[in-house]
Amino acid sequence: MEIWMYDIDFDLVKTPAYVVDERLLRDNLEILADVIKDTGCRILLAQKGFSMFCEYPLIGRYLCGTTASSLYEARLGKEHMQGETHIFAPAYREEEFPQILSVCDHVVFNSLEQWIKFRTKVWECDNRGVVPAPFMMDVHGDEHASQVHSCGIRVNPGYAEVEHEIYNPCCAGSRLGSTLAEFEETLSKYPDALDGISGLHFHALCEQNSDTLERVLDHFLDSFGKYIEGMKWVNFGGGHHITRKDYDIELLKKCIRRVQDEFGVTVYLEPGEAVALNTGYLVSTVLDVQNKTFYTTDGDREVEMTPVILDTSAACHMPDVLEMPYRPYILDSGMPGEKQYNYRLGGNTCLAGDIIGDYSFDAPLKAGDRLVFTDMAHYSMVKNNTFNGIGLPAIAACDMDGRLRVVKEFGYEDFKSRLS
Ligand SMILES: *Cc1c(COP(=O)(O)O)cnc(C)c1O
Repeated sequence: MEIWMYDIDFDLVKTPAYVVDERLLRDNLEILADVIKDTGCRILLAQKGFSMFCEYPLIGRYLCGTTASSLYEARLGKEHMQGETHIFAPAYREEEFPQILSVCDHVVFNSLEQWIKFRTKVWECDNRGVVPAPFMMDVHGDEHASQVHSCGIRVNPGYAEVEHEIYNPCCAGSRLGSTLAEFEETLSKYPDALDGISGLHFHALCEQNSDTLERVLDHFLDSFGKYIEGMKWVNFGGGHHITRKDYDIELLKKCIRRVQDEFGVTVYLEPGEAVALNTGYLVSTVLDVQNKTFYTTDGDREVEMTPVILDTSAACHMPDVLEMPYRPYILDSGMPGEKQYNYRLGGNTCLAGDIIGDYSFDAPLKAGDRLVFTDMAHYSMVKNNTFNGIGLPAIAACDMDGRLRVVKEFGYEDFKSRLS
């Protein structure tokens, strides 16, 4: 497998550790900044996918702000990145809502009912002149930030091409966003429900190219196009794999311009994964090569495998390997049977299914060897856990000159503090 990377001396970090290469992050951000510059759209970091906040100053030099799925994420974005602070949650908690208004400038509601429930709070706050201060001028020097909250509704375009149902927000009975029928039913009951609404939001992509966006957009516009008039923005959500090598950026720009030109609105994108795609590693050490073998089949060939225990874990440190599921790439490895020495790599927990995958190598593995998993920056540190009392990986970064630094290490207290 060909992967694009800069030289890093992975022997310099204690394992397990996530290592994010700021040079790769910058390369991604330059691609995203080009889309912003070329179209006038606005791109936010979806913190759900990547919340390594020591990198927010770097990200903030290229992107227009952050979006959040919760109050805590919103606070993190507000505290560490300049620009706009957006939020969407399936439902807001009443006791948190005043704080949400003090932190966020854009609030997306999951339905018109949620908006109706909270709109007087928004209006009271805005009329009092309590603005989420201080609004900062963004990197591009324009004062896009309004002095009142900009509120939007998440809609369900009724069309998605997401194969894994767990990642499909348009599945039958989805709780995320209103379908056109639901939206119009509420409007017929509350004809003024759109008063004060400045934007529509949809999120129906997952790791997809812009041809999928184009088809989702057709459905969105067919259903909701008539409601965009008079609004200020349309948010295309996340799931755009913009920084992947084969991504069709020109078609993305066409989709953005189509909506901006036809309706006179600003388009927002809020990728998480695309910001941090292929920018980080999880470095681990072999703890034990077991004295046993078993066979798996590769087509019609039998491959002899040996179980290996690593100082990391799929369940704890890369949960998407089990949840998505997928097989992460390891530097200098092959598919089972491809190279001479074959191993089933497992985590250091008691979960039988804590298996990262089957791999082959040119030389036999031994305890103390390092294995480097690629593309481990996004949806890894934001989802990890201390199941089995397994310690969290350190977080390290590689700067523009190729120097490694450990940003944070974790210990027993991080395990204990979540329990009582
Ligand atoms: C998950 C999510 C994102 C980010 O998705 P990526 O696949 O990481 O780009 C953006 N917006 C919403 C509403 C989301 O739920």
